[in-house]
Amino acid sequence: MDDKQKFRILSKLTTFERDGEINLESCIYLTSTPKGKVPILKVMQTTMCDRNCTYCVFRRDRDSTPRLYIPSEKLAKSFMDMYRSGMVRGLFLSSGIFGHPEFIMEKMIDTVKILRGKYAFNGYVHLKLMPGVSIQTVEEALKVANRVSINMETCKEERLKKIAKGKSILRDTLPKIETVDKLLPKYKGKSQITQMMVGVDGETDEEIISAIHFLNRRYKISRVYFSAFFPVKDTPLENRPPENPLREYRLYQLDFLIRDYGFDLEDIKSILVKGNLPLNKDPKEAWAQAHPDLFPVELNTADYNLLIRVPGIGIETAKEIIKRRRGKRLSSPQDLKGIRNIKKILNYTTLNGRYYGSKLSIYL
Ligand code: SF4
Repeated sequence: MDDKQKFRILSKLTTFERDGEINLESCIYLTSTPKGKVPILKVMQTTMCDRNCTYCVFRRDRDSTPRLYIPSEKLAKSFMDMYRSGMVRGLFLSSGIFGHPEFIMEKMIDTVKILRGKYAFNGYVHLKLMPGVSIQTVEEALKVANRVSINMETCKEERLKKIAKGKSILRDTLPKIETVDKLLPKYKGKSQITQMMVGVDGETDEEIISAIHFLNRRYKISRVYFSAFFPVKDTPLENRPPENPLREYRLYQLDFLIRDYGFDLEDIKSILVKGNLPLNKDPKEAWAQAHPDLFPVELNTADYNLLIRVPGIGIETAKEIIKRRRGKRLSSPQDLKGIRNIKKILNYTTLNGRYYGSKLSIYL
């Protein structure tokens, strides 16, 4: 892009800045971290967008969306004011695509450079990577941010084409995830995530799970975030029904089973009904109930990999059970005192050959 083009875009953006009201306090949200909930400023560099994704509040043709642009200096300063007053602890910076994606990405990176340089801010910054930016720009973003994200939006190329013309999983999202994946060893402590909408185009859980299984096996992706579709007024999908948020929750549970508990695609497929997860059951319980030949599990002898497949037993609980049984044979629920989810665990286990649960009918 030459300087003339940049100037044209910038002068348009500056007009939007003058016209718009900015209320950043409404952009604070709580994000979950291992240390608890943390307030983050989640903000767009600009709400202008040339694209017309059918689900999006910022789509070009949605006249009711307020259009704003926050110049990098101003955004960095506003963030620091909020940070210093204790209102926020980190920044998640995204943007609409206005002009060339490289241009707006450059502005986003500038914002973070100002934070890191002028304000010596060394806290958490998450940058969303714009579709279509170059490998060099991806690396620039990775240099300044703690985390980058490249949104899948949905699980399949043909579905994405229907809802977001101009975006491509195969030509853009996956190559970019791969680029970040290759760069990550150079940037210790940094990470990438992706995001997928659920229920935007009638996709089944099986399609979503196949996609996340592929991503988790092939790339270092810290998290796949799911968001249940909710229709936005004045968009082409405004009459589409909202997705049940419980479906989003079940998919998170499944993602954990694949990433941390060694479940593979076949395990997951064994619990699907017509390609979807039963919403009324925790997926780990559904899997256990679909495999009565493996349960109840004897807590004194089961290895770690089997223990973590027992409903109610997480990674820490499995370690605790192994530690306790080294000292003495576990023979009654009293021996599990202090362990979380005992009632649930007892439904799927035996202690010294004896069953203390209340779901014997599963095994009969
Ligand atoms: S490119 Fe992003 S901001 Fe623009 S319409 Fe699509 S989803 Fe919305």
